[in-house]
Amino acid sequence: MPDTPVRVRFAPSPTGKLHVGGARTAIFNWAFARANHGSFILRIDDTDPTRSTEENTQIILRAMRWLGLDWDEGPEVGGDFGPYAQTERAAMYREALEQLIAKGAAYPCFCTPEQLEEDRQAARARKDPFQGYQRRCRDLDPDEARKRIEAGEPHVWRIKVPLDRGDVVVNDAVHGQVTFAARELDDFVIFRSDGTPTYNFATVVDDAAMKITHVIRGDDHLSNTPRQVMVYEALGAPVPVFAHISMILGTDGKKLSKRHGATSVEEYRDAGYLSDAFVNYLALLGWSPDGETTIVPREALAKTFSLEHVSKNPATFDPKKLDWMNAEYINAMTDQDFANTILIPELIDAGLITKPEDRDEAWWLTLASIVKPRVKHLGEVVSVCGMIFSHADTLAYDEKAVSKGLAKEGMGSVLDAAQQALGTLSEDCWTETAIDAALEPLPEKLDMKKRLVFQAIRAAICGNLVSPPLGTTMQLIGRDDCLARIARARTMAL
Ligand code: GLU
Repeated sequence: MPDTPVRVRFAPSPTGKLHVGGARTAIFNWAFARANHGSFILRIDDTDPTRSTEENTQIILRAMRWLGLDWDEGPEVGGDFGPYAQTERAAMYREALEQLIAKGAAYPCFCTPEQLEEDRQAARARKDPFQGYQRRCRDLDPDEARKRIEAGEPHVWRIKVPLDRGDVVVNDAVHGQVTFAARELDDFVIFRSDGTPTYNFATVVDDAAMKITHVIRGDDHLSNTPRQVMVYEALGAPVPVFAHISMILGTDGKKLSKRHGATSVEEYRDAGYLSDAFVNYLALLGWSPDGETTIVPREALAKTFSLEHVSKNPATFDPKKLDWMNAEYINAMTDQDFANTILIPELIDAGLITKPEDRDEAWWLTLASIVKPRVKHLGEVVSVCGMIFSHADTLAYDEKAVSKGLAKEGMGSVLDAAQQALGTLSEDCWTETAIDAALEPLPEKLDMKKRLVFQAIRAAICGNLVSPPLGTTMQLIGRDDCLARIARARTMAL
């Protein structure tokens, strides 16, 4: 369908949260729509009433918004092809069924489960190459069938696959030509006895009605495709282009699951990943603009995404690479942006500050400059710089800081010397340069290793041994509190 505008859809079933695999499918659809100036449609496939919930739908919508995958049609935004939830489209499925019945392309089947099982066994016993539904009700007399329906006999509706249909060949945009043997195509159920459509039927009725041109979805659906092609043909609707994208595996080569850690989009949002980095990372699971480039910002993705560069090999979700990507995005931010959009909100959330304006802009920019290169995700902000917001009397000392930095022979004299050297600096001269200059001569003066001297001071000031550069940290903490911290630590030092 070269001249028709591209229309793609993401059709999650609200039976759970939005998972990494679903998010990647959504990203591919969104990017494909944007790159082709087409429409991206969100449809809620909620036909399984026992497992679908409104709460899950809301979680999915929220996750889609966080990912920045704006949809052109769908829940909340509407569109010309609605409604966009399958439960609201029941009349359309019924109408499509009537259409097939009128054409003689669907028929009622009254077989009981026992009968079906018996037929299956018999086909197996005679080694019939055709093992599916044995078409027992296919040629029932229509009047008799109608009477049985009117008498209330339970029945399903099956599609009448033309006997001469032959193999189904699907030209998948990712997998290439895939052939499904005719003998695998039976007259499958399109409407259940409870009057609800099956997935293969509802999906095609919707995709056809919504004029979907490309179906991009996980390759766990590849095996459904020949059946769906049968429904398109029965409806007389054009068959879209299919693109089945690979599975996502964990680093151990097994299908990604809870065992591998967080799998839902929300968990990554809550753990402090940036939406841009997360989208970039997922976009590269099975797609790459050139096999090399790793940083593909959203705008570039929306311009360059193409199905030709989608790999059919399974992709590996590696949390370490995601961390790396996230750190890249964080580092690419200006200090100002980092301070305003990450640092300050994280500190407020953690209850460490209430009024950021109590400190001036230069102070925040300095803090941003030392924290930014040290965090892989937002959740690390507080562990990197929380101690700056403590006070001498409340600062927590971690075990290592005490055992390695303080409770060791000679550390008391280091702290005494530091207290003295720093005490000579006035409030006005309390700058990183002056602090560094004051501390620099101490190792020689004390005849101790530089590493040990600074370890003790770092432990005293920060309560840990892994803080950002000491001079800048001390400048930000301020003179009086630094001296008070050293005095308190002195009581723990030997
Ligand atoms: N609701 C189906 C799913 O979540 C959609 C499959 C499809 O894209 O056709 O798996």
